[in-house]
Amino acid sequence: MEDDLAVRCPAHDVATGAAACVPMMALGQVMGVIHLALTDARQAEDVMPVATRVAEQIAVALANARLMKTLEGLAMTDAMTGLHNARFFDSFLDQQLTAAERDSQPVGLIMLDIDHFKQFNDTHGHPAGDEALRAFSRAVRSSVRASDVVARYGGEEFMVVLPGSTEADARRVAEKIRRSVEEMVIEIGPGRYARTTVSAGVVGTDTQHLDRKGLVSMVDAALYRAKESGRNRVVSASTGDQELEAAAGRRRGRTGAGQPIPISSQAEGQSA
Ligand code: GH3
Ligand code: MG
Ligand code: MG
Repeated sequence: MEDDLAVRCPAHDVATGAAACVPMMALGQVMGVIHLALTDARQAEDVMPVATRVAEQIAVALANARLMKTLEGLAMTDAMTGLHNARFFDSFLDQQLTAAERDSQPVGLIMLDIDHFKQFNDTHGHPAGDEALRAFSRAVRSSVRASDVVARYGGEEFMVVLPGSTEADARRVAEKIRRSVEEMVIEIGPGRYARTTVSAGVVGTDTQHLDRKGLVSMVDAALYRAKESGRNRVVSASTGDQELEAAAGRRRGRTGAGQPIPISSQAEGQSA
């Protein structure tokens, strides 16, 4: 009997009986194989029609499951930048906050918004703006760890989730991103180059014990303060106004917050 076999099944020892391998085919692809161990080859005549039908049904179910996974992946990805989208960000952060609380680990969050991006589009054109968004996304991705998640949250707004990072850690990463964007030269067309900057808000669960919505609202407020205080800068949620006063002080020629203000510098600051 064995000698009649054209193909030998590696999964079954045919010396002790007979074997049937039924491929599970769907959408022109082999989804798997059903192995049947039979007492003898004659049994195959009874079993094969049923096995073939079962294989078809399982194959269709597997193909559908695989398709669903692909579609879910697409629904969670931003087509232009290849980053995760806002939907993914929401569920990832929720999941990280639950895990972090269980393991007593911090989670850091950075919100980024490209500065004067409307003006960038107006000056260089919308396709150049798209190119800048892609270059920006690469710069952010290469400034963070593989385990950090970068998501495009809106048009020119991005979120970075840093599992295991404190607010101070996240701030250092945000500063690294800010610097790498500042130094980046974007090729917006053949022989055409442009630059941009980014502002960032930062928060960490070590300083703010909040849920996702609370953290997003804190990081958004910190980002707003970064914009208000001059852009191309990082503001932490828990640093408060001290940091901004220090920045304002530096702009007025002071050495830092709390220092006496020379009359002439104060006048300059007020007239600005
Ligand atoms: P700010 O520094 O205050 O953030 O100023 P801004 O101009 O960046 O902010 P604003 O919200 O006024 O404008 C955002 C701009 O981002 C306007 C919009 O056309 C542009 N934008 C959003 N999504 C895309 C996109 O997918 N491609 C391009 N090229 N531009 C986009
Ligand atoms: Mg914006
Ligand atoms: Mg912007």
